Amino acid sequence: MPVKGILERLQQGVVLGAEGYVFELERRGYIKAGPYVPEVVLDSPDALKELHREFLRAGAEVMVALTYYAHRDKLKTVGREGDLERLNRQAVRLAREVAAEGDALVAGNICNTWAYDPKDKTASSRVVRAMYAEQLGWAAEEGVDFVIAETNDYLGEALIGLEVIKDLGLPAMVTLASTHPGETWDGYDYVEACQILAEHGADIVGLNCDRGPATMVPIIERLRATVPGYIAAQPVPYRTTPATPTFETLRADGSGRAFPLALEPFLCTRFDMADFARQAKGLGVNYIGICCGGSPHYVRAMAEALGRTVPASRYSPAMELHPMLGGQVEEKEAAFLPDWKD
Ligand SMILES: [Zn+2]
Repeated sequence: MPVKGILERLQQGVVLGAEGYVFELERRGYIKAGPYVPEVVLDSPDALKELHREFLRAGAEVMVALTYYAHRDKLKTVGREGDLERLNRQAVRLAREVAAEGDALVAGNICNTWAYDPKDKTASSRVVRAMYAEQLGWAAEEGVDFVIAETNDYLGEALIGLEVIKDLGLPAMVTLASTHPGETWDGYDYVEACQILAEHGADIVGLNCDRGPATMVPIIERLRATVPGYIAAQPVPYRTTPATPTFETLRADGSGRAFPLALEPFLCTRFDMADFARQAKGLGVNYIGICCGGSPHYVRAMAEALGRTVPASRYSPAMELHPMLGGQVEEKEAAFLPDWKD
């Protein structure tokens, strides 16, 4: 049975996404921190497929092809420009292979390029457009259901991505990064920028990355009140605060900047992310997901918070069976556990 397209699914209810591939595969030893180029696609395809599969089992409805930072400029920085086409095509194929194991869609993926320059808009736009066009041309040939253009710092760059997606006749989800307190790097309020993207034909607009649920939700509330169409929220699973609204601004006591390699002290629990999923659904967010820092246990908790039973639910917690926390603690052990009692 063919899977329904993204727009049909959204019409029927919340779509659960899952991202954070680059961070997770870096932690697992398959991507180099710093350049964060997804060399894993070619070097260890089985490792990538396994993570896709884990997200799928956890309830993700979209397998995002790992072409984040797989554009011409970034591959050049690690001396692999010659692998550009092969990497982009293989990323889509791997996502498709795993999506077919379940009922998932495949999303092509483009992102902020670091090549866009509003001070040299005409020339830099040409460079960005060419990079997006070659990446998404290959993705479309390999077969994607829609495209996610994400982590856009500039509205101007996001609009280029949107145009390229629309030229290919594919549904477009375009989401913004939110590193600044209130606006994109080219000076648009996030909500206003999303509104402009929607007016230009983006099917889904919203935010991804940078902010944890606590500091992303207030923007999403304003977005929901302003944009009538489908909206997306994919926060990072970190405990950001009004004083440190993005994960780039988090500082661990005495050890300086936590981003990107020392963020563990700020991780949300699976319960925090389940709360976020419930809250986002309540607000009317259509595409709910997770970004950098995400891993399968969060996605399963989010899926279950949305009332779903997913393949990995088979192994969801059963704390009543825990030998020290359950109700069946043997008398011989009970004496050793006074501190465990509530
Ligand atoms: Zn991210």
